[in-house]
Amino acid sequence: MLSVNPFRLKSKTLSSILVGTAEKSKKNFKKDGRTAEFDGWGMPYFICIGIICGIQNTYESRRSDTEGKVRGMLTLRQGAQGAQVDLLQWGLNRAGLLKEPADGIFGAKTEQSVRELQKNFNLEPDGVVGAQSWAALYPHLTGLQTHLVQPGDTIWVIAARYRSTVAAVLTANPGIRPENLQSGMVLKIPLPFPVVPSSIRWCSDLLALTVDGLRARYPFLQVETIGKSVLGRPLYLLRLGVGKVRVGYNAAHHANEWITTPLLLKFVENYAENYAEGDTIGGVDYRYLYNAYTLEVVPMVDPDGVDLVTGALPPDSPALSAAQAIAAAFPAVPFPDGWKANIKGIDLNLSYPANWEKAKAVKYAQGYTRPAPRDFVGPAPLAAPESAAMARQAKRANYALTLSLHSQGKLIFWKYADRAPAGAYELAKKMQGVSGYLPAVTPPGSDNAGYKDWFIQEYNRPGYTIEVGQGQNPLPLSQFDIIYRACFGILMLGMAGMDD
Ligand SMILES: [Zn+2]
Repeated sequence: MLSVNPFRLKSKTLSSILVGTAEKSKKNFKKDGRTAEFDGWGMPYFICIGIICGIQNTYESRRSDTEGKVRGMLTLRQGAQGAQVDLLQWGLNRAGLLKEPADGIFGAKTEQSVRELQKNFNLEPDGVVGAQSWAALYPHLTGLQTHLVQPGDTIWVIAARYRSTVAAVLTANPGIRPENLQSGMVLKIPLPFPVVPSSIRWCSDLLALTVDGLRARYPFLQVETIGKSVLGRPLYLLRLGVGKVRVGYNAAHHANEWITTPLLLKFVENYAENYAEGDTIGGVDYRYLYNAYTLEVVPMVDPDGVDLVTGALPPDSPALSAAQAIAAAFPAVPFPDGWKANIKGIDLNLSYPANWEKAKAVKYAQGYTRPAPRDFVGPAPLAAPESAAMARQAKRANYALTLSLHSQGKLIFWKYADRAPAGAYELAKKMQGVSGYLPAVTPPGSDNAGYKDWFIQEYNRPGYTIEVGQGQNPLPLSQFDIIYRACFGILMLGMAGMDD
């Protein structure tokens, strides 16, 4: 099924090509506003302010639309902490209103920046971030601005005004013709930075904003939800490509391994960008890839758990209290950093019907007999809505291959029990060639009830668990670039690696 080789490569040249591709992928990093100073875009301050003024002009007319999109985000004030504060500070950094890097603590400087933002947008400068302030920041959180075309506007002038490019504006607005702009049209303008941040902690709100930003910038990217989490968060699925061969990638089955979420989304962003530009990089023809394969990505399988680990649940929420009570019974597991489960204390990657009874026996013997921060298999297979949605989607999509990203060990698990799908080991070896990660067989006793296990059992096709990075979970974001470069080739090979 995966016999076509779009690269037309001998395997020994594969690694050099993928290294070349990864080099290309780095261009986004340079533009990512990750640094302490506000220099991420490499543009002078007055230009940033110019962009803000442009944003302000169109904000007034679009305010109600944007406020709808940020409704439900936490109201933040001085003293708040957690991933939503990271998000706020990151937005303020990008708006040129806060120079200090995001530290997740809403202090006096952050409050001052919020007041400045509010003054710029004629809001009550109370320093409290509610729906209107979030809406004012929305373009900086999504990389997307809307522009109402005025008489005399040209696409070149509009692109220059926002420091965007004509190509990016045309991609985001399919169907428009540069020579035929009509005043009154509303254009989507990609702002001059990447959508996916890799410098702040993730939460489900950031995921929703990122999905908004990517979908608007790359209209050929399809977005669906395959279900909802326990707390009602959407389980997003992003689809790229129209090919007959479907592959499914997922991340953050485990809450404290959330670094895999930006990893997978950065890959989606790079792929979409390169496809839009029609790039052929080091022999990789993205258009061929797009037409030969359909890539489906679930970037955050456990959004509630991620929110718990990164401090994004409201401090007074019943879900947080319940999780604290669950964790209190397992004092050896650090809280919240050691939390892997969904918000109900079910370990999603031990909840699939593949030797589930055996997994249960093993974990019960270790004391995980009830909801826990990790290692509780649940009352029955697929009892959690998150894993049930994943299994449903795999059946619907009939994947030729799946990749599940986890974050411990720099290993490639490719087998389930005594099942070794045809070609799976050979592809794992190729993945080793481009990443340095070692193909491995799951230790006895833990080769049960995972998504990869279930997928191999059901379909006898290649299903992988990729353990990215090494260290204490959650892995620090300082590892992100290194991990991304190691994984880029693996993610490419998951689509097109089973060549001859
Ligand atoms: Zn894991």
